[in-house]
Amino acid sequence: MSGKVVLIGAGPGEAGLLTVKALEFLRQADVIVYDRLVDPVLLQERKQDCDLIYVGKEPSHHPIPQAEIEQILVNQAKLNKKLVIRLKSGDPYVFGRGGEEGEALYAAGIPFEVVPGVTSAIGGLAYAGIPVTHRDFASSFHVITGHLKEGSDPLDWTSLARLEGTLIFLMGMTQLPSICTNLIQHGRRPDTAAAVVEWASRSRQRTVTGDLTTICGKVAEEKIGAPGLIVVGDVVKLRDKLNFFERAPLFRKHILLPRARAGRSELAAKITALGGEVTLYPGIRIEKLHDPAQMNAIMASLPEYEEILFTSAEAVSLFIEALLDYGKDNRTLSGIRLTAIGKQTKEKLREYGLAADSLIARRSVEIIRQACAGNWQQGTKVLLAGSAKHTAQLAEELGGDAEFAALPLYREALEAERPFDLNRYDIVCFSSSASVDHLLSVLSREEQALLRSKKLLSIGPMTSRTIREKGLDVYREAEAALPDSLIELLLEEAGEVMPT
Ligand code: SAH
Repeated sequence: MSGKVVLIGAGPGEAGLLTVKALEFLRQADVIVYDRLVDPVLLQERKQDCDLIYVGKEPSHHPIPQAEIEQILVNQAKLNKKLVIRLKSGDPYVFGRGGEEGEALYAAGIPFEVVPGVTSAIGGLAYAGIPVTHRDFASSFHVITGHLKEGSDPLDWTSLARLEGTLIFLMGMTQLPSICTNLIQHGRRPDTAAAVVEWASRSRQRTVTGDLTTICGKVAEEKIGAPGLIVVGDVVKLRDKLNFFERAPLFRKHILLPRARAGRSELAAKITALGGEVTLYPGIRIEKLHDPAQMNAIMASLPEYEEILFTSAEAVSLFIEALLDYGKDNRTLSGIRLTAIGKQTKEKLREYGLAADSLIARRSVEIIRQACAGNWQQGTKVLLAGSAKHTAQLAEELGGDAEFAALPLYREALEAERPFDLNRYDIVCFSSSASVDHLLSVLSREEQALLRSKKLLSIGPMTSRTIREKGLDVYREAEAALPDSLIELLLEEAGEVMPT
């Protein structure tokens, strides 16, 4: 039996503009076939064993022919893959060749469905403060391709120039001069407002405005390039009032956030909410460990433990999953003290209806020892649930009177990444010593030298020490060793004050 293909629109750029339905599919996908304009952050939502196939073209590389992409979709679905996602930028049916892919799937007898997305033609312009219609300025809008199929008729400029509504050109950046000239020659007022938006809805978004006679010069001056949206019409004038995105405090700040662990990053979410573009690098993937004999032995002996120490939120999910697979549930945990390391771990327990008995702020042997000293007597049995590395390390280093058993549930592995360009970032935010080690372990010697020219922000004294040990300079250190304190530094760098 063949699988199913879902054509999904990823939205114009910002990850949050994905639909709820699309996100659900991404989390279930067995294969994701994706394009260049899709933000790789979205791919982090995939499950652990999901295959990724990149079919976008990098500048200076040949694109993968459309027929080949269609063949990949058909083959992947036939390979008995249950769910193949074709992730495209914007909306899959707006110049995305989604229709052709749907036809190819239909011809091959493969079931498919479509999840529409926010098209850049509307949503991207909204992020530049331009509404595509407005009662006072435009009662229709028209989305036009600037890139026609070879051999097809050229655009009907007489009709286009006569339209009263907003004109939006996609894939038109190389044609911009000819678009402006043609519209004027065919009767559109030369002083009609126009704008070009590059990388709409991303933190690198740039917008230039003018009219049909000036826009080309301004685009050339600012070196605005693809991907770009060209918009012609008086709605552009509303941008002065409606330009919410480019006014966000961290807008146009490109921040590199090296990490040492997988899972959600609170800091990254806060930076994005303030309009910044953040890259988590290197990406880290959770690889579930599966040792049925060990798991069964631990599950059978659970009632003997007095305490379970969870070292991460991922450990909680994998532990509960294993408990259910073993045919038990939360009731088995009654009477066992549950300790969470980190706020997110505590929250994850809560999601499963479990209240942590204690919360330990950080995974430091000293802090854990102090926090647990009162509970750990001679012979107290404590189960350490977490990553292979952390459980082994804690079992060895905690010492004292209690007896520790390590339950390694997963290991953290480096993601195979798309090409990474350190030049893009102005600021590197180190949120732990391990994040420093981690980044340096993947950078080439040249990249390590390049790191010296960046503003390196540190979350606290321990992290700063590690940065200096690597021969690098700390640009600024956060006052309190907390994510919010780092955010405060970022806002100060951007010349903003902390929002209250
Ligand atoms: N299906 C997509 C369009 C694909 S065609 C959609 O609905 O948005 C690719 C063209 O879309 C690009 O050449 C560019 O003109 C435009 N585009 C897509 N995303 C963009 C973005 N974030 N910023 C500016 N233009 C974008």
